[in-house]
Amino acid sequence: LLEINHCNKKFGDNEVLKDISLSVEEGQVVSIIGPSGSGKSTLLRCATLLETMDGGDLIYLGEYTAKADETGKSIYGTKAELQKARQHFGLVFQNFNLFPHYSVLKNITEPPILIGKRPKDEVYAEARELLKKMGLADKEDAYPYQLSGGQQQRVSIARALAMKPKILFFDEPTSALDPELTGEILHVIKELAAEHMTMVIVTHEMSFARDVSDHIIFMDGGVIVEEGEPKELINNPKQERTKAFLSRFQ
Ligand code: ATP
Ligand code: MG
Repeated sequence: LLEINHCNKKFGDNEVLKDISLSVEEGQVVSIIGPSGSGKSTLLRCATLLETMDGGDLIYLGEYTAKADETGKSIYGTKAELQKARQHFGLVFQNFNLFPHYSVLKNITEPPILIGKRPKDEVYAEARELLKKMGLADKEDAYPYQLSGGQQQRVSIARALAMKPKILFFDEPTSALDPELTGEILHVIKELAAEHMTMVIVTHEMSFARDVSDHIIFMDGGVIVEEGEPKELINNPKQERTKAFLSRFQ
């Protein structure tokens, strides 16, 4: 579904991503772990076209979506091509990013109606289904400030799903939440995994990453230091940097 080849990204002199390559197959759950500042969010931002790359290319569903030329200039498709590429994925952020002045239902239905140009009736019916699935059937008229952090995050997952993405990206979806609310979000993501939703998840929840993922990538200093089968990588890391990082979570 997604291939990232030799992605490089600099902010000024700061090389944040150095020759990162990864691929995500249909139905796969890939987790990205690593210390603060290792480039995890930047990688997600490049993969979701929120950030340009200085080198490398990005392929969604076998079609070139973005690439950088040898001078480091990014070449993206036309506006229409980008718009189309954006419909392949959804994004869930650490701090929910809901529209504060929209109700829960409107937060979920606006993007498919305005961007997806889909019929209102259909979108509303699906949004209500999604809310039910997220355990929020009674909250459709609430505003974000009336919800707990965990409920807000479930709304933002519903909002991403309403666009019917082929891949769902999560950037530390639980790190803004109190520990007792983290579990409900991890549970929702586990359910999506059981339904074979393709997901890329940046997380600091190691046991969750081990249980839910098909593949784990450990990043440090802008490079992929180690990657592999989750149990093997978490229980039996090979690289010193991976061991040092994981030992903090024991
Ligand atoms: P965390 O676990 O704290 O979220 P991270 O792995 O997501 O960290 P990034 O946010 O990708 O790390 O940041 C990687 C590096 O890039 C950091 O040194 C950061 O300061 C730098 N950086 C990120 N975004 C920008 C930006 N827009 N402009 C300049 N530097 C940036
Ligand atoms: Mg980050």
